Amino acid sequence: MKINISCPCGNNFPFSFEEEVDIDKNPNHLEDIQQGKFLSFDCPSCFKQHKPEYKIIIIWKSRNYKLAVIPELDRNMFYIKKKENPPFETVIGFPEMIDRIKVLNDNLEPVVIEAIKTFLIAKAMESYNDNNDNNINVWYHRKTDDGLEFHLEGIKQDEVAVVKIPLDMYAKTLQDYEKNPQKALFASLRVRKYLSVQNIYRPDVLK
Ligand SMILES: [Zn+2]
Repeated sequence: MKINISCPCGNNFPFSFEEEVDIDKNPNHLEDIQQGKFLSFDCPSCFKQHKPEYKIIIIWKSRNYKLAVIPELDRNMFYIKKKENPPFETVIGFPEMIDRIKVLNDNLEPVVIEAIKTFLIAKAMESYNDNNDNNINVWYHRKTDDGLEFHLEGIKQDEVAVVKIPLDMYAKTLQDYEKNPQKALFASLRVRKYLSVQNIYRPDVLK
């Protein structure tokens, strides 16, 4: 697809991108996505970085995985208009896409990661009770030898807190999920094919 980016500097420049991204065919996409460089365009005139979001599909055949990515701007429409139903797993917004690709690349179960995020958000809300409860966001960052690292945003303005959870907490939650995938905690993370901790915290009008 061809797009036109209008930069505030007055420059208007065209870019093209693939609506279907095959990770096995283009392994460099995997790096680009994880580093936040995917679909990032620099204005040739003032070098401002633009990160427009478009609806794309990521295909990862070697992982038997297909992911639909919906732009953040379409989030409310996804909830309201129940028609928009990609037939496979869905995320909304590029930050969720980056997060999910990192999770899969580290061979982790996405449902378990989203469930762990609910614990982390609940704990953050408890510790930093300052009425900005809906703004706390947590992202999977990486796997290390002794745990999983998450980034917590929204506790303090413009600050990211790094939280590490031990691997056995992941293992226990995974065991719990495998034993009882229909459990309320896991079921509440899904709206149709959309799997995200955001589903729990969405406003009532979107339920
Ligand atoms: Zn520009």
